[in-house]
Amino acid sequence: MNDHRRLGRELGIFDTDPLVGSGLPFWLPAGAAIRKAVEDYVHELERRHGYQHVNSPVLGKRELYERSGHWAHYAEDMFPPMLLGGEEFVLRPSLCPHHALIYRSRQRSHRDLPLRVAELGGMYRSELSGVLGGLTRVRAVQLNDGHVFCAPEQAAAEVSAALDLVETAHALLGVRAARYRLSLRGDGGKFVDDAAMWARAEAVLRAVLEERGRPYDEERGEGAFYGPKIDIQVADPAGRESTLSTVQVDFFQPGRFDLGYVGGGRPVMVHRSVVGSLERLVAHLIEVHGGAFPAWLAPVQAVVLPVSDAEVPAAEGLVRRCVAAGLRAELAPPARGSLGARIRAHRLVPYQLVVGPREVAAGDPPDAAPVRLRDGGQAGVVPVEELAAWSRPAF
Ligand SMILES: [Zn+2]
Repeated sequence: MNDHRRLGRELGIFDTDPLVGSGLPFWLPAGAAIRKAVEDYVHELERRHGYQHVNSPVLGKRELYERSGHWAHYAEDMFPPMLLGGEEFVLRPSLCPHHALIYRSRQRSHRDLPLRVAELGGMYRSELSGVLGGLTRVRAVQLNDGHVFCAPEQAAAEVSAALDLVETAHALLGVRAARYRLSLRGDGGKFVDDAAMWARAEAVLRAVLEERGRPYDEERGEGAFYGPKIDIQVADPAGRESTLSTVQVDFFQPGRFDLGYVGGGRPVMVHRSVVGSLERLVAHLIEVHGGAFPAWLAPVQAVVLPVSDAEVPAAEGLVRRCVAAGLRAELAPPARGSLGARIRAHRLVPYQLVVGPREVAAGDPPDAAPVRLRDGGQAGVVPVEELAAWSRPAF
């Protein structure tokens, strides 16, 4: 069974140190490479679908979260405030309040809607140390977040478009949803007490789910404090479920921040995360792929294997060509063992380029090489540029 904690350390993806603290993993080079590949892909996917990217600070004044409703409904998951110069600052528990203020920073008209704002940003959760482990329960979260500000009659189409993005990204990442969940409010003070508002938001989500024809389960008490959610659940090898992607309809925060637009009333906020937090996503990807990531995600995409010492200079030149073409490539020289041993040591690398006397004769450095695939198959002699194209995500 692929446990992401064991594999993540073996593959140099992440680690922790008690001096940093539990629930605060750091990303090692292989993990940082995967993470950057995901960030770049999601950024481009969002850009192609009409999102504008923003950046906002990871903390704000306590009043900001009082205004958003987090302080009243979500405080137990938040870090305690930090005092500075008579003001209290809080590490943010979500990005929504900042994005609401970004919406409010300019006058908006109905022609600006839907306004799609996205950010891959940090947020913080005061998880107790007892439940922390690996990348799945962390205190510092990098979230692929986004908010669509739209007119009420646009909300269903925006929810559906967000689900399209989720399904597109999952297919490319190799993620299979365990189930779709409609997460509703429960009893108690965790949820904003406004039955009509909840019913209205729920109706939007139900209509989209029915129209898409995908089966889903309903669960009370799993909604956000401000509104219901469609959660896309994934399961780990032990069958434990967690929420990866989510789409939410919110009629609450736009009112709290007094958002409006010229020629209309109050916009709706559709909160959505296409791939969830990078921590949870990468944990899941490690388990799904067992370290054999799709080429576009692989920490090392191409390894160059000179047959003997005589081919090392040409192989170094080929590595440089691969790197210049955008590939994450490295050399595995004969000093590390026989060709067979080096191939075994790099069995998770998607493309293994073997450089022998024939490749050196064809060009030094060569601009193509015979490519061995990690399943043992042969792809023939492939030019570096073509290999780079194979190693990019498809849109
Ligand atoms: Zn949000």
